Amino acid sequence: MEKKNTWETYNESQLRETDVFADQYRSFLDAAKTERECVDYVVNAAEEKGYRELQTVIKEGGSLKKGDKVYAVWMNKSVAMFRIGEKPMAEGMNILGAHIDSPRLDVKQNPLYEDEGFAYLDTHYYGGVKKYQWVTIPLSLHGVIVKKDGTTVELNIGENEDDPVFFISDLLIHLAQEQLEKKASKVIEGEALDIIVGNRPIVLGKEDGSGQEDCGCENAGYKADDVSNEKKDKERARDAVKKGILDILKKNYGVEEEDFLSAELEVVPAGKAREAGLDRSMLLAYGQDDRVCAYTSLRAMLEVEETDRTACCLLVDKEEIGSVGATGMQSRFFENMVAEVMNLTGEYSELNVRRCLASSCMLSSDVSSAYDPSFASSFDKKNVAYLGGGMVFNKFTGARGKSGSNDANAEYLAHIRKIFEEENINFQTAELGRVDLGGGGTIAYILALYGMNVIDCGVAVLNMHAPWEATSKADVFETKRGYEAFLKGACL
Ligand code: MN
Ligand code: MN
Repeated sequence: MEKKNTWETYNESQLRETDVFADQYRSFLDAAKTERECVDYVVNAAEEKGYRELQTVIKEGGSLKKGDKVYAVWMNKSVAMFRIGEKPMAEGMNILGAHIDSPRLDVKQNPLYEDEGFAYLDTHYYGGVKKYQWVTIPLSLHGVIVKKDGTTVELNIGENEDDPVFFISDLLIHLAQEQLEKKASKVIEGEALDIIVGNRPIVLGKEDGSGQEDCGCENAGYKADDVSNEKKDKERARDAVKKGILDILKKNYGVEEEDFLSAELEVVPAGKAREAGLDRSMLLAYGQDDRVCAYTSLRAMLEVEETDRTACCLLVDKEEIGSVGATGMQSRFFENMVAEVMNLTGEYSELNVRRCLASSCMLSSDVSSAYDPSFASSFDKKNVAYLGGGMVFNKFTGARGKSGSNDANAEYLAHIRKIFEEENINFQTAELGRVDLGGGGTIAYILALYGMNVIDCGVAVLNMHAPWEATSKADVFETKRGYEAFLKGACL
């Protein structure tokens, strides 16, 4: 079958639009490197477009009618947006779904330690990563520390040019003969992914250790009375870098070591999203899986007007670890919010909620693997996505015999083809990679539990799950156009 390159389909004004959209997408990526930052961004953008918070409408005893726009946030990590359509909701919605969590390193609950003059934060990786890709690159620290009194300290260190960054060390090549004999999965092991956060000992003051108070970290583990003088000097030398870090945390953020217990700190690649290639045709950035689909879905949702069916955009957390937890797609959050919205439109009954969900159509968006000529044997060239090939549809995902897949119906695919061809949206169909080589899942199968029509789709990504992932600007723009066409369209 013939494949069209999206770039070749664009006229001058579309090319300009593609660049403008890519710039806006890049600033989103820079502002939203964690699911919490993503939700903040979405809420601000939605409110600017006249969306109201669902809980507020409920509290005020309000109601919803055609054209009204509401959003609901769950635990600061998931968000659903609704734009009420012409038809009753019981006839179903058109839903765009994507996930806003990305692979990264999470800081452990007791993370801070010192070893031979380096202070480290211990991490546990989140999602599927090639661990060796995370060493020797600049890293930033994002997240929240929630103190016992309920106050939240937000951290974002390493993104501004004058911020410090963090890093994980790797063995110098000169001494790496043995390391290089290891399997790639063992070259850097999970427990070696600890980030270096300091190297300068705090100045303790007098011999008797009385200067310690300066660091404001009496509980940092050093007990002067228990040890001989010689040992005392050693102990002090060993902990002094860690104490220095605790001192900075105390002074700058008002947090103690124990506060790490109730923190969610994410270590991500530092730096901004960039244009890539002399022709500037691509984007290289962290977290495009799946924020590329989240952003394009969000934009389509914000721009669409006057739809027959209620339009919905659902951006969820925890996909990378199996859609678990209260903010993952397996949570009842979405179903509950649909019930709340229908209550406000005056349509609520348990049966109507079920009818609404069962009659809905969904584009479950996630990134697809782009064909990589350097690893040609990993793909089936006929059934893989190409960078620049347009929006991607995956009839199925899963692994080894489609296991764990949603596998959309042919009837639904035909319906989607019709909508996309009418609106001149360039699309391609793909599988993740060669049969029996591996695979992956998405949130599609969870929404399909309601009986609705769901298909996996999204944007092709080169080096997916690497610290820096690549996409085509044309695919990003085309996908946003596709989502708009879908929201405006009918359902089966
Ligand atoms: Mn994904
Ligand atoms: Mn992923």
